This record gives sequence, C-alpha cells and structure tokens, in this order.
Amino acid sequence: MNDAARSATDSTRDKHGLIVIGGAGGFIGGSLARYFHERGHTRIRAVDKKPLPEWYQRVPGVESLCMDLSESANCVRACEGACEVYNLAADMGGMGFIENFRVECLRSILINTHMIEAAYRAGVARYFFSSSACAYNTELQKDPKCPALKESDAYPAMAERGYGWEKLLSEMFCQEYWAERGMMTFIARFHNVYGPYGTWDGGREKAPAAICRKVIEAKDTGRREIVIWGDGSQTRSFMYIDDCVKGIDMITHCEELIATPINLGSSELVSVNELVSLAESIGGITLERSYDLDAPRGVGGRNSDNTMIQRILDWQPNRPLRDGLEQTYAWIEQQYMDRKAGKRTVS
Ligand code: NAD
Repeated sequence: MNDAARSATDSTRDKHGLIVIGGAGGFIGGSLARYFHERGHTRIRAVDKKPLPEWYQRVPGVESLCMDLSESANCVRACEGACEVYNLAADMGGMGFIENFRVECLRSILINTHMIEAAYRAGVARYFFSSSACAYNTELQKDPKCPALKESDAYPAMAERGYGWEKLLSEMFCQEYWAERGMMTFIARFHNVYGPYGTWDGGREKAPAAICRKVIEAKDTGRREIVIWGDGSQTRSFMYIDDCVKGIDMITHCEELIATPINLGSSELVSVNELVSLAESIGGITLERSYDLDAPRGVGGRNSDNTMIQRILDWQPNRPLRDGLEQTYAWIEQQYMDRKAGKRTVS
C-alpha cells in the first residue's frame, strides 16, 4: 500500500476537521457524505440547492444545508470553518441533458468560481473538484474503438460543448489557485459513475440506470421491447459508486496529485449494446431492440487510461461491471416498485 492509500484508510487521520461537501443532495455528493461518516469523520457539512426532502440521501449526524452555491455569499457561509471542501455541485445529467441544456451546464462555472474563492478565504487545507471525461478533446473520441484517454489528451482543447468546457475551465481555476495562491487543490476526471442512489428517471439519468429501468419496465408491463439511443455501437466505461468515493478520498490525500487532473474511471470498456445485454441477463429477459438514431448519443467511444492512477495510487477502480450492475438493477427495481406503490423515491 502506498502513502495515498495509507492516508485514505489511516485510522489516525484527523477525523474532527470540518468536511464540506457541495452537491451532497445528489448521487455522488450524498454517497461521499455517507462514506466519510462511516469512516468516523465527526464533522461533515452537506450542502445542496435542492430542498432537503428531495435529497437522494440524508446521512444522520451530518449537518445538511439547503443553499444555492452559485451565489458567493452562500459559498462563504458553506465554507466557514472548513478544513476540506469537496465540490460536487453541478447542473448535470446524462447525454439527454448535457446536449439539450448547454447553458445550464455552462452556468455551473459560477459554483466552482465562488466555492473555490470562499474555500481559499476560509483557509481550507484541501479543495477537491469533480471534473469529467467530457473535458477531453472530442476529436479523439469519434471511433468506438478509440484508444483510452490519458490525462494529457485534454489539450489541445476541444471539450464537449457546454458541460465539458465548464469542467475544463474550472480545472484551470483549481490549478491557478495552487500555482498563484498556494491552496492545495485536487481534480478528478470522472468517467460515467453508476450505482444505487443515482438518478434513474426524469431525463438526467445516465445509460446504466436508464437501461436497467427500461428492462424493469418491459418486464413489468409485458411489452418486451427496448429503445436504444444511437446505434448501440458507442462504447463507454462505467465506474461503480464505491470506487468513485474511495478514489476521491485517495486523490485528495495524495500530495503528488496537487493541481493535477487525473482520470477516475473504470477501464472495462463496453458498447451500449453489450450494456443492454448485461441488464437483460440480470433481469432474465430478452427484448426486441429498436434504435433511435436521432437521440443524443455523445461521442463514439470513450475509455479511461488508468496508467497514471495505477502508478501513483497503486490502485484503480476495479468493481466488475456485472457485479455493480446487479446491485444497481436491484436498487432501481425496488425504486420502481416503491413508486408504483405510491411511496417516495429518489428522482
Ligand atoms: P447529481 O445531479 O446527482 O448531483 C449534483 C448535485 O448538485 C444535485 O443534487 C444538484 O441539486 C446540486 N446542485 C446543482 N446546482 C447547485 C447549486 N447552484 N448549488 C448547490 N447545489 C447545486 O450529479 P452527480 O452524478 O452526483 O455528479 C456530481 C459531480 O460529479 C458533478 O460535478 C458532475 O458534473 C460530476 N460528474 C459526474 C459523473 C457521473 O457519471 N455521475 C461523471 C462525470 C462528472
């Protein structure tokens, strides 16, 4: 085990400094709050603009605040007394959202801009920013068989319109707050995260959740068909949520990674067609496939090159897709049934 892994799992690490998590009413932020809480951190402040009853997870013992972090005064309040700040707040979703709401995506620049300044003024020791594989040059991702993306592939820049450019510019803020002002910042480029407590319906859901839901719906209604966005040949890798939160912790406690964007993603590449087959086999059903070629499909292919994370952290996200998808399918199925029964659900 190397230093970063040791620090992330170190039982002697200070557990009483205030951790602030922006976007904690959502999927990854909520899971991160739970992760730190379960590891004995005693002071966690979770912040999200959604009203508290709409948060995906509320962790007992965690201070939960409803505030819009695109406003500077709220960021100042959120960062008060913080040792570490994790910014996971963003207006985001799957391809259906980021291709149709580019202005909303770009406006998330306000969140990081105010949050990082507030963190700096509050004297925080470590600041984490959740970037995305959408920051990579889209020219390199046309072919479903394109090589995995390594960290240097973000430049020359031609990021995903809207969402990707917001991420790239926010990364630069993080790098300059370190270079010019000496605040330690950490940046992970997430590749498609999935798992329980993720958005699974409503238009912002990503492919794994959407496909599980469609299979569950088909089983429930008896309409044994599924509509796939694009021709199904587009490839992606998908990271299970437990790997994501562990990776965030390890990256943020690795001095070698200060102000250095790093991939945080699985390198298990599958096509959307293969993802559908996996969900079908978990659901024990085979569906008639049709393809909506006008639907948003994103780039042709995208995978995470994990050479750097493996070298520096001696670790990489490793939950097999089949295993993670089984957990996710079971959770979405329960959500689906709960909603049918008129109970409150996530998204
Ligand atoms: P999510 O939508 O579930 O969570 C984001 C949360 O941010 C939401 O609860 C939302 O209400 C909140 N938010 C939005 N605007 C806000 C504001 N002005 N003030 C306060 N809160 C605000 O998304 P997620 O999947 O948990 O993503 C978390 C972060 O990870 C985001 O920055 C996202 O861009 C990044 N990311 C996610 C993925 C993925 O596959 N889920 C991939 C790449 C990057």
